[in-house]
Amino acid sequence: MNILLVHAHPESRSLNGALKEFTVQRLQSAGHLVQVSDLYAMQWKAAVDAEDSTQRLFTTRFDVAIESKHAFKNGFQSVDIAREQEKLLWADAVILQFPLWWYSMPAILKGWIERVYAFGFAYGVGEHSDTHWGDRFGEGTLAGKRAMLIVTAGGWESHYGPRGINGPIHDMLYPIQHGILFYPGFDVMPPYVVYRAGSTDERRFTHICDELGQRLDTLFSADPIAFRPQNKGDYNIPALTLRDDILPGQAGLSIHVADREY
Ligand code: FAD
Repeated sequence: MNILLVHAHPESRSLNGALKEFTVQRLQSAGHLVQVSDLYAMQWKAAVDAEDSTQRLFTTRFDVAIESKHAFKNGFQSVDIAREQEKLLWADAVILQFPLWWYSMPAILKGWIERVYAFGFAYGVGEHSDTHWGDRFGEGTLAGKRAMLIVTAGGWESHYGPRGINGPIHDMLYPIQHGILFYPGFDVMPPYVVYRAGSTDERRFTHICDELGQRLDTLFSADPIAFRPQNKGDYNIPALTLRDDILPGQAGLSIHVADREY
């Protein structure tokens, strides 16, 4: 299978750098083809701006979505954006690997999403009607592919537990896993999270590689997170609220996961 690893860490001799090397070797030795987008090494341009299009539709006022749509549709995107989209289309699975910085992904990776996820590619796809609100949340350009996060965090596992001060890790990662990955169609695998990353030594690194290796070995066979598809009947359209008879009276992020086990 084809796997794209998008890596966001500025130092190759970091824990994340070591986990990247391990991940690539493990996947390749299992027979997969791997491409790596090492964003710092590529000097990836993180900020969306008017230079992202080689031929603007309007030059008086820069509208991000309109120019993104025009550039994507007509082949006017800058080369770096188009190249990353080709990698996404090539991949059967995409892994985003990063240290948790300020409760989210590093800015360079957020900028990769913002620029590569063009209008017509990752959003603005499909028709809107009384029963179908665009091809998104389970449908879309990237449907049929798998995605997974590999994240390192300084905090302890308990800090990210059900009553931890940071909030549960799945709530924290919800905007990425549901909003960025499930939205354009990916089946999202449970994340692999390294807690207390700063206390890693050689012995612990070996244990981390054992665990991560098992997750990589089952990337295409394990069950994805059971996020509810938007257009298959669970949601009222166009309000996009979960139907009243499903988990009546309940709210919060976990209602959007069908088995709620995760
Ligand atoms: P490194 O610092 O490179 O390494 C961590 C440890 O692993 C070191 O002890 C190192 O010696 C060891 N190590 C590295 N490579 C190997 C190897 N090959 N074998 C054995 N041991 C090795 N944490 C949170 O929980 N929540 C936050 O919101 C958060 N925000 C942050 C914001 C910023 C700006 C920064 C800088 C940090 C933040 N952190 C946060 C902490 C951050 O998540 C961790 O620093 C990061 O995950 C560690 O990953 P790293 O690759 O940089 O590790």
